[in-house]
Amino acid sequence: MNIDTNDLKDGDRKLPITLSSGEHLRAIIDTVPDAMVVIDTEGRILAFSAGAEKMFGYSEAELLGENVSTLMPSPDRERHDGYISAYLETGIKRIIGIGRLTTARRRSGGTFPIDLSIGEARIGKDRVFAGFIRDLTESEKTEQRLHGLQAELAHVSRISAMGTLATSIAHELNQPLTAIVNYVETCRDMLDDHSPETIATLKDALSECASETMRAGQIVRRLRDFISRGEMERQVVSLSRIVNEASALALVNGDSTVEVEVDLERDVDLVLADRIQIQQVILNLLRNAVEAMENSRVRRIQIVSERAANGFVQVTIADSGPGLDAKVAERLFHPFVSTKASGMGLGLSICHTIVNGHGGKIWAEPSPLGGTSFHFTLIDAEQGSDDAE
Ligand code: ADP
Repeated sequence: MNIDTNDLKDGDRKLPITLSSGEHLRAIIDTVPDAMVVIDTEGRILAFSAGAEKMFGYSEAELLGENVSTLMPSPDRERHDGYISAYLETGIKRIIGIGRLTTARRRSGGTFPIDLSIGEARIGKDRVFAGFIRDLTESEKTEQRLHGLQAELAHVSRISAMGTLATSIAHELNQPLTAIVNYVETCRDMLDDHSPETIATLKDALSECASETMRAGQIVRRLRDFISRGEMERQVVSLSRIVNEASALALVNGDSTVEVEVDLERDVDLVLADRIQIQQVILNLLRNAVEAMENSRVRRIQIVSERAANGFVQVTIADSGPGLDAKVAERLFHPFVSTKASGMGLGLSICHTIVNGHGGKIWAEPSPLGGTSFHFTLIDAEQGSDDAE
């Protein structure tokens, strides 16, 4: 690496040790367990730390001068040069100094979730970018960072499941409520018999009925309150960010032999959505796809977004699995429909509740990859849909 610390002036303080050469600095950087990759404004790799060699499976010698996009899966791979030139032109920082959860690609072709932070430095007249990469498949920090996201997701899934179940629960409760009311009315009519025993029995029965009625009513009310508290927060959010985070989550502890390809339409990135809820949808669909391909020889997932009619964006998650079982195809989005031994059969009904709540639609069809394609639509925040209020 050619960074000379003489260029990194730090006032006139006298330090006990002077890092006089790039070699010193290099020796220190190589002790850092995370990977560090330094690139120039053309995306060419200037330095690749020992941690990076271990993480990606390339040696520094192989990569010096190569484009850093080699380390990225699609679509970043094709678009990275554009990201740098857009930053150099506009000065708008989308990642520098912010950091994000995304995916990287090893020499073997396998993709893995990373936490990426980027810093910018001026070395003499030149500008360089240093990327610090933490592999989230193993790191402890993953646990913390993903734990937060997962907790949020679990919360949403509980609320969405409650939403789905609310209708049937309300229906079930209404039946005993009606029966109780009838019973109370019958009791009232029996009051014509003025014998003390009948009156005592009827009084007891009536107060029992009344308190049961109240309790049943309270259950319904509590449930309703609970669901409405979980109301979503629709905001203008970046679909690519949602997809990147959700696929990083799905890849953690996931099957690394699954090849995930992402192809997002850049012109329709902003959608009107609750980020956490839509992540939940994508995560459910990705997990289902991975589970469906358990015994498949070819395991591919494609995540695609494209502009759809009437101000919507369509997201597709396609897999190369066996396709839908005829037994479930008709009632796919109903709760408790599952072909899995330990499946709850709630995932797709939650997806359905969430997407419908966003004004979109979700459906499935055979996929060109040989398995199933799930499609859902979201409102394009820049156009606004005809259905949006
Ligand atoms: P669960 O995963 O608990 O079974 P879901 O509602 O998520 O519940 O899925 C319902 C059923 O739909 C699954 O059991 C499975 O049979 C089918 N299914 C969902 N996704 C796929 C897919 N990508 N490929 C094939 N079948 C699928």
